[in-house]
Amino acid sequence: MTRLVLVLGDQLTEGLAALRAADPVRDVVVMAEVAAETGYVPHHPQKIALVLAAMRTFAAVLEGQGWRVAYTRLDDPASSGSITGELLRRAAEHGAGRVIATRPGEWRLIAALEALPLAVTLLEDDRFLCSTADFTTWATGRKQLRMEYFYRDMRRKTGLLMEGDQPAGGQWNYDHDNRKPAKPDLFRQQPPRFAPDAVTEDVLALVEARFAGHFGQLRPFGWATDRAGALQALAHFISHALPRFGDEQDAMLRHDWALSHSLLSPYLNIGLLGPLEVCRAAEAAWQAGHVPINAAEGFIRQILGWREYIRGIYFHEGPEYTARNLLRHDRALPALYWGGKTRMACMRHAVAQTRDHAYAHHIQRLMITGNFALLAGVDPAEVHAWYLAVYIDAFEWVEAPNTIGMSQFADGGVVASKPYVSSGAYIDRMSDYCGTCAYKVKDKTGPDACPFNLLYWHFLHRHRDRFAANPRMGAIYAGWNRMEESRRAQVLADAEKVLARLDAGEVV
Ligand code: FAD
Repeated sequence: MTRLVLVLGDQLTEGLAALRAADPVRDVVVMAEVAAETGYVPHHPQKIALVLAAMRTFAAVLEGQGWRVAYTRLDDPASSGSITGELLRRAAEHGAGRVIATRPGEWRLIAALEALPLAVTLLEDDRFLCSTADFTTWATGRKQLRMEYFYRDMRRKTGLLMEGDQPAGGQWNYDHDNRKPAKPDLFRQQPPRFAPDAVTEDVLALVEARFAGHFGQLRPFGWATDRAGALQALAHFISHALPRFGDEQDAMLRHDWALSHSLLSPYLNIGLLGPLEVCRAAEAAWQAGHVPINAAEGFIRQILGWREYIRGIYFHEGPEYTARNLLRHDRALPALYWGGKTRMACMRHAVAQTRDHAYAHHIQRLMITGNFALLAGVDPAEVHAWYLAVYIDAFEWVEAPNTIGMSQFADGGVVASKPYVSSGAYIDRMSDYCGTCAYKVKDKTGPDACPFNLLYWHFLHRHRDRFAANPRMGAIYAGWNRMEESRRAQVLADAEKVLARLDAGEVV
């Protein structure tokens, strides 16, 4: 009997578990562009275009390999509008009663598939290097989960950057060599751009027609939409940007949106690249003497460590994770996140770059937009919905623990051992934003004071009961306590004014 083989928009991998378990002669691959997926948050137009163009291209690859593909286009009038609806429709068409699927990266879809009146087999997504079962085994019985120990185990397990049972170069982590500010540099290579092919042009026209109201610019669209392009992007990164990756990892520049970042997350997350091949390429570049160890190790740690760890957390913590709100923050997401006016240069740049490229690098996400939302006490559910919508690489398994956990501390310290908050001084040190800002980063109070300076202390003050005892925050509270009473009162009063302006919808 025919079986349906589900391939989702972020499962565009030739060796996908569901494809390996199926038979091209008797089974039918189901791929569906559906309104339920393009519309559950207002995705950035470039993200929708990337996924749809890559899906169409991948379907053609499968057909070329002899698979029958039942493909639903977004504008198909016969479409039911949802993944499960399309599975039911295709099951009736082909007389199929069984579905083989690779476990989706989102609880919402897992629940929907499990509720189908068909026999559904969900296979482990073995494109990841740590299975959900192995993560649970690792996590069970530990008082505190910390990425660094997970990462070391993953190094041992994969042999990446290992010399026998010792870390290459003698250290597990070279972060102390990283985190430097950066200067504009005309010789820094820009990321590669891929001219849209005919399939992508069709999709761009469709997205233009249907999603013009979504936040974000669609064109110019320069992302690769197939594996060959993704491999080119990887090779370009390894040759041109990886050597400076470590040094520039945390830096932010107004006129350089990518710096030495890889921009590989969209390709990794939709399956055009695999994590091991990317890490091996970085390791090989170090072995060949092309890049320093701090660059190779720093980069590999992001993928082998953070990416796998974050996914482990998402499935370990369960479906209600996205609803967590430990700090009981309830402010509405300010309009400036959707391109509304702001006088803060850092926020303006991070949001404008997000609008133009559907991309911001980690420190922009964590220490600019995330930091501000946390300091201002924005409802983490709204912050989560924003990050899920606006970034080209945003899929819930990776976005949610980064936002709810790492950035907003709404999970109570599962991902982060202390909140990632800073005043304007950090932003000034790591970027060239503050020199062009209407606020003064050196002002700690008064109408021109950087809102990060004011809200930083307001946040720490209002959550004193929770954080004062945290050993990593003791020195910060000691600094606050040393401040004169009248100055503390002034800081808090000025911070209240900023919050009141946010609540009134005024420009901050
Ligand atoms: P690089 O800096 O070149 O890093 C290399 C790779 O490491 C990335 O491609 C990515 O696969 C991986 N990586 C690095 N940091 C992380 C991390 N914290 N978690 C998981 N993988 C990581 N990443 C996403 O892929 N999708 C998201 O939706 C997403 N949302 C985020 C939301 C917030 C609030 C924060 C703070 C971070 C988020 N990240 C997300 C993590 C990180 O910011 C992006 O992976 C990274 O910016 C992607 O750009 P890049 O490929 O140039 O990364």
